[in-house]
Amino acid sequence: MSDRTVLRVKGRILVGPDEVRDELWIIDGRISYDRPVAARDIRTMSGWALPGLVDAHCHVGLGPHGPVDVDVAEKQALTDREAGTLLIRDAGSPSDTRWIDDREDLPKIIRAGRHIARTRRYIRGFAHEIEPDDLVAYVAQEARRGDGWVKLVGDWIDREVGDLAPSWPREAAEAAIAEAHRLGARVTAHCFAENSLRDLVESGIDCIEHATGLTDDLIPLFASRGVAIVPTLVNIATFPRLAEGGESRFPRWSAHMRRLHERRYDTVRGAYDAGIPVFVGTDAGGTLPHGLVAAEVAELVTAGIPPLKALAATTWDARKWLGRPGLEEGAAADLVVYERDPRTDVRVLADPLRVVLNGRVVA
Ligand SMILES: [Zn+2]
Repeated sequence: MSDRTVLRVKGRILVGPDEVRDELWIIDGRISYDRPVAARDIRTMSGWALPGLVDAHCHVGLGPHGPVDVDVAEKQALTDREAGTLLIRDAGSPSDTRWIDDREDLPKIIRAGRHIARTRRYIRGFAHEIEPDDLVAYVAQEARRGDGWVKLVGDWIDREVGDLAPSWPREAAEAAIAEAHRLGARVTAHCFAENSLRDLVESGIDCIEHATGLTDDLIPLFASRGVAIVPTLVNIATFPRLAEGGESRFPRWSAHMRRLHERRYDTVRGAYDAGIPVFVGTDAGGTLPHGLVAAEVAELVTAGIPPLKALAATTWDARKWLGRPGLEEGAAADLVVYERDPRTDVRVLADPLRVVLNGRVVA
């Protein structure tokens, strides 16, 4: 396709949950709602168009044992692209993936630097493993390296306790979050259990990943502070298998993981009902494969979130939350076209007709 070719998307352009247009033009890689004058070659595609999907918890450049080489990272990004994920919030990566920013054919990435965990309290090879005294310095470093986010590991198994336990004393978390905010970065934390949440939220954290430990007494606190959650239900689905693996050595931890898994849908539904912002994240990279965005949206619907809201959690609302445009006039043409209306049946997302990135049809 030459750069002079104009693309026309005809059908239903889902600009917002309540805003639908009949056609959209792509001129020089950008969205326009005005028919171009003197267009040369016009290529038309028809269907239901959504803004490029957002995976708000994804890891590019991370594999089961830590950093992966450039070829593997590229393959991860291409797998996400094929699934229609065109905007990623990378929730921690030990690799330098800046080279992706120069590639017009790969999804856009908002980075959170590298995970920051307590010493020996996370998956080996993933995180900076440090002690509380160094937390502020590491948060400042990752805030400068990233794209406006910092990722903490908020809790993990404490082998001496034999159960999940908070990683950081409250004072350390408070100082670190304040430092990130001073540097213009938002902070999120991996939290499975209940007991790390209050301190982090009262310390001003912006988002919690997984949030399986969100209980009825904590929900109003999250709601009043506007703290978002990214449940990653496709990851939570692996808890029973993890619990089984750790059963003999850590029976308390195992039982805890099972309980968190059993009530996962009620947790997410309770959060949604209370007005807590819920976003789509797959936790791809590390142990999970890339490209699961449609499966995660379906899981949110299973949890009881209405289909249109689950869709918004990977499109309009997610982009707004991350400060990126959707299908607005003049924005980069990042969109996905489907055969049927994804608003009534989110399973449609699993089967994109066309993926358009920076105005080019890439799938
Ligand atoms: Zn993750």
